[in-house]
Amino acid sequence: MSTLSDFNKFTANLPRQEQPMPVLFIGHGSPMNGIQDNEFSSGWKKMAKDMPTPKAVLVVSAHWLTKGTRITSMEFPKTVHDFGGFPQELFQVQYPAPGSPAIARETKNLVKSTAIVEDHDWGLDHGAWTVVRHMYPEANIPILQLSIDHSKDENYHFELAKELMELRNKGVLIIGSGNMVHNLRMLAWDKIEEPGYGYDWALEMNDKFKKYISEGDFSRLINYKNLGAEAKLAIPTPEHYIPLLYTLGLEAKNEKLSFFNDKAVAGSLTMTSVKIG
Ligand code: ZN
Repeated sequence: MSTLSDFNKFTANLPRQEQPMPVLFIGHGSPMNGIQDNEFSSGWKKMAKDMPTPKAVLVVSAHWLTKGTRITSMEFPKTVHDFGGFPQELFQVQYPAPGSPAIARETKNLVKSTAIVEDHDWGLDHGAWTVVRHMYPEANIPILQLSIDHSKDENYHFELAKELMELRNKGVLIIGSGNMVHNLRMLAWDKIEEPGYGYDWALEMNDKFKKYISEGDFSRLINYKNLGAEAKLAIPTPEHYIPLLYTLGLEAKNEKLSFFNDKAVAGSLTMTSVKIG
């Protein structure tokens, strides 16, 4: 249970900062990245080192789809192992970071376009913990998740993100966690150990996405369904792409923007990630 005094403590402890916290989109890829030291997890660690320590982390994960928008509001979110067919070692991982009912309440109060529901059932799914455990291995920063309302269109998500801007101003790191190009049915399993291998259409879409992001041409990205046959292959279902729209919706004017982990994996997946701010 959060109380009014928790809420007041949070707002008192989190004065507005001069510089808003950067906002990230992270291509999370295989759950195995959660326990591997590889170029992608190294990229996530480096990102965390290069940024101020956040007061909290709010993740919009491709793996939490709900009707209505929910936010995790428990004191101690459980580690959710929402996958099958992976080694036992991966199922044993626990990421014991605290949650923050106070920040959940703050977020709920910020958003006027929809009534965000405080959730006590979910936890941290692999879209969140496989990434964040590399960034903040001490598990001492509160982590929350915001769900994706699967009944809503792309524009809804982009607009909802804008209402979260005040969290950046208060030092909360917001991460959209998905993959820009994500077609599991077409994965080249024989190439999975050779990062860098991408089908022509995957590389073409990766370049287009980066171009539109760099140019701030977000309306094309919101309306990705108009981008032709390659886009249909890159985004056969929208759940891994929508977290990108949250990240882009949180860009303020004239912010610095850079890409990292810009690489295809197994033909039909890209790990390309974005830092804004
Ligand atoms: Zn995923």
